[in-house]
Amino acid sequence: MAVPRFNKNALRFRLPTMTPEDYFPSDYRSGRHAFVTACEQAGIDVISRVHPEAKGRDGKPLFLDTAVIGPRTAKKALLLISATHGVEGYFGSGVQTGLLQEGLAKRAPKGTKIVLLHALNPYGFAWDRRVNEDNADINRNCVDFTNPPENAPYDALAEFISPKDIAPAALKSANAKLTEYLKANGAFALQEAISKGQYRYPEGVYYGGSQEAWSLKMLKDVFVESLKGVKKLTVIDFHTGLGDYGAGEMITEDLPGSAPYERAKAMWGERVASSEAGESVSAPLSGTIDKAVASWLKGVELTFAALEVGTRDTRAVFNALRKDNWLHCFAPDRHEHKDAEAIRLELRDAFYPDAPDWKRMVFAHANEVVSAALVAL
Ligand SMILES: [Zn+2]
Repeated sequence: MAVPRFNKNALRFRLPTMTPEDYFPSDYRSGRHAFVTACEQAGIDVISRVHPEAKGRDGKPLFLDTAVIGPRTAKKALLLISATHGVEGYFGSGVQTGLLQEGLAKRAPKGTKIVLLHALNPYGFAWDRRVNEDNADINRNCVDFTNPPENAPYDALAEFISPKDIAPAALKSANAKLTEYLKANGAFALQEAISKGQYRYPEGVYYGGSQEAWSLKMLKDVFVESLKGVKKLTVIDFHTGLGDYGAGEMITEDLPGSAPYERAKAMWGERVASSEAGESVSAPLSGTIDKAVASWLKGVELTFAALEVGTRDTRAVFNALRKDNWLHCFAPDRHEHKDAEAIRLELRDAFYPDAPDWKRMVFAHANEVVSAALVAL
């Protein structure tokens, strides 16, 4: 009988290892707690900006938190943003906390800082909504409100895109109208009509708002406080909901051939897709943060991309958004409605498949694009 050889490694105390699944929070409150704790453990200060009015589902205050790794005077920076679209924050928050736990604080290259912005739209994150407290989309909110962009196709389809009645028969006739438009103009044109952004229907989807949102004001403040004097900046904004389940795409609004597009391509390779050039899972959009940041940072070498990861199929995501919009804008008894909880959970699932395989795939995308951005800086 063979005698087993002594293996000293087998006797070592084994620490429970964290896996990517463990980084993802179960709600806004636990996501914030995990982020702040991970910052504290890494010896990084957190600046918290409290929302002046909105509260979470638990009745407690909501915060936009930021942390800076590296020298404050650094001329090069990487900015990582989560929860621009509230409910998509499960992903971005999980990534930020996970990267911190895996040692991000030690990875800032010399002369570079990493700015983490946790929960740009904390209301949407806390309430499992894509929009903010005014039913507005933060990534369509950066416009001149005295002369907002037009979206004629949305105008023509508004009552069918976000119906006041979501009973099966009413939805069926609304869908027939959308199908008509799709047959005449193509699927991408319908996607653009719906998601480009609109400024006329406060009770519709992809509404850009009627004024600058609190989140956008705070984003400007973060740029003044934490990114002033930066000459070279890379921004990654973490999004979910478009593309195949677990797939990842770096969406830029810059056109092929432009300097920012080519920088993005050099950094992230084949993942890069221009929404303005029709390469992307996203249609061209109005009033985005990308454009706003570019207008604030004249003369800065800016590379901005959204890491967009896929969740459920487009139709499921769209229908979840319509129900959520109906609940918050048209349901007579809103949160007391008998279907309120089911609608909230359906929306959450549409933007956050709470499954180990999805979490592993999307965390891997995030880790890769952040690593590539750090190498390029
Ligand atoms: Zn998004």
